[in-house]
Amino acid sequence: MNFLKLKIPALQTDAMQHSEPYLAKAATQKALGYPEQLVENWQTVAVSKMGELLAQTPHLQAYLDNCVHCSACSDKCHYFLGTGDPKNMPVARQDLFRQVYRRYFTFAGKYFPRLVGAKDFDEKVLNDWYRYFHQCSQCRRCAVFCPFGIDTADIAMAAREILNSIGKGQRYTQEIIVKVESVGNNLGMSKPALQHILQNLEEDLFENTGCKIRLPLDEYGAEVLFIPPSADFFAEPHVDGFLGYAKVFYQAGLSWTLCSDATEAGNFALFSGSETHLQQIAARIHDAAATLGVKRIVFGECGHAWRVAHNLLPPLLKNLTLNRNYPVPQHICELSYDLLQRGALRIDKAKNAEKRVSFHDSCNIARASQMGNISGGQFKIPRALLTACCEQFHEMPRNTTHESTFCCGGGGGLLTDELMPLRIKGALPRIQAFQAVIATQQVTHLATICAICKTQLSQVFPNYRLERAQIISLHQLIGDALVLK
Ligand code: SF4
Ligand code: SF4
Repeated sequence: MNFLKLKIPALQTDAMQHSEPYLAKAATQKALGYPEQLVENWQTVAVSKMGELLAQTPHLQAYLDNCVHCSACSDKCHYFLGTGDPKNMPVARQDLFRQVYRRYFTFAGKYFPRLVGAKDFDEKVLNDWYRYFHQCSQCRRCAVFCPFGIDTADIAMAAREILNSIGKGQRYTQEIIVKVESVGNNLGMSKPALQHILQNLEEDLFENTGCKIRLPLDEYGAEVLFIPPSADFFAEPHVDGFLGYAKVFYQAGLSWTLCSDATEAGNFALFSGSETHLQQIAARIHDAAATLGVKRIVFGECGHAWRVAHNLLPPLLKNLTLNRNYPVPQHICELSYDLLQRGALRIDKAKNAEKRVSFHDSCNIARASQMGNISGGQFKIPRALLTACCEQFHEMPRNTTHESTFCCGGGGGLLTDELMPLRIKGALPRIQAFQAVIATQQVTHLATICAICKTQLSQVFPNYRLERAQIISLHQLIGDALVLK
């Protein structure tokens, strides 16, 4: 199977006009340095913030000036394909921003607004911004198909930062940022709570393997500081992947540690567009590595965390003493792949014989980062691991994988209950591709390497009658196939 025929939906004007996330609470806005509620002169503040962002990020202005409205991106967004709402076409989403930009920052827009589609930033436009910039998971699929590489995700991030600056932030994302900055993880989990969880998991590991596999916390001088997404500590289907990482470290004889001050790989500031908070959370990981004296930092299975780690963390790490044999930071898949290449992992793929597996490329890894030193490593490394530990691995249609992968529908800070109807609809193209490979290859499991994808897909599967299919962590598959004794 090479190609999935995607049905373009009939246009349904304003179909998703009702969909918007809860507003951030005043205390959260304040904690992050934003106004507690919509400021009275919000229009002036918003236009001024837009001017600031345009000056700081020249590519933003290039995106706004260079679109020729060719429509090549129109049918590439999963939220448009799932809802039919024309405002969910990437070009229309961009135009919500572009019409305001033209009105206040271009000569033609100031004097002949109607001629160039410029609009005042009024309340109706503001409400559309809040709704439709929170119907973009910042997946960047549309940018792959744009002849000019215009990235709607960047425009959405700028819009969200402008919304924050006038006191109209989004609750889910803001609350997670506050928790991570104050406690170190998005659950607000204390060190004693974490110790308790790790102790229980060590007992489970011993029961299942007969091996004394440790889950070390705050151990000074370990080789590796390991940063998983915090869902890995307790939630299904994440936790078995966490046990898989531990088995890999154990078999390789690598010393590693978690850090109670930095137990969260995720950096939700990426979704709010805030450079300040993005750096603050990344710096927390840098500080943890320095305090514990590790030689390298390895990130667990989290898509956007890897995007931040790959693109932002290296400059922050330049003062650390690093092991020159490894790129820093490193993704857990890179580490496992390296061990596999060196024959350090004993794998019996027959242990996964009953699982027929397909793979979902997570957007932030597929389109916004890289793995390893090989071209296309972000696609090749997970597949090399899958074929090493599974007898039955089957690809979804090519136009829905690799750089053309469809978002799970829950990324970009949208993984919140009030957006569930949008998330279900946005998952449609991904689900259709998975259903296609189930029909031809009787696939039973969908593997992925992103915590958000795992949660989102597990939650929407029942809406597509996929209760029997399972989301599985790639490192669960590896852990299940390891011969530990
Ligand atoms: S970045 Fe993704 S979610 Fe946003 S408009 Fe483009 S395709 Fe849609
Ligand atoms: S593909 Fe690019 S140039 Fe064409 S409409 Fe979309 S954003 Fe504009």
